[in-house]
Amino acid sequence: MTESENGAQKKCPNCGMTLARFRRSGLFGCAECYHIFREEAERTVLKVQGKLRHVQKTVSPEEVKRSLDLQKKVLQDRYRQALNEEKESEAIEIESEIEKLDLIEKNDFKEASAEREAETRTKFSVREDPA
Ligand SMILES: [Zn+2]
Repeated sequence: MTESENGAQKKCPNCGMTLARFRRSGLFGCAECYHIFREEAERTVLKVQGKLRHVQKTVSPEEVKRSLDLQKKVLQDRYRQALNEEKESEAIEIESEIEKLDLIEKNDFKEASAEREAETRTKFSVREDPA
């Protein structure tokens, strides 16, 4: 059997995200992507956390957060499925992945709000009126 190329042509009709791009970044473009790339996401989501550290430098914190939320949804679905199928060890594994995403999210927020604070300070000092 040859490996099918069908999957690589998948594209999100809402934001235009392609499977190839999703594979590179590990980030969803929008909520619709979650449905389009769901299968792929389930396979790659566990490897994504490391990538996010690099990716987030080029995307906004909001985008990262949105993507993390979607990835959590994927994991939570898997978690429920694992419970339904009584795959206990898998469920525990998935649960710890969800916790990791939570931690990443918290750290991102810390970084993002620190940046914003610095930005605000700059704005205020620029606007300072000497007269
Ligand atoms: Zn999309």
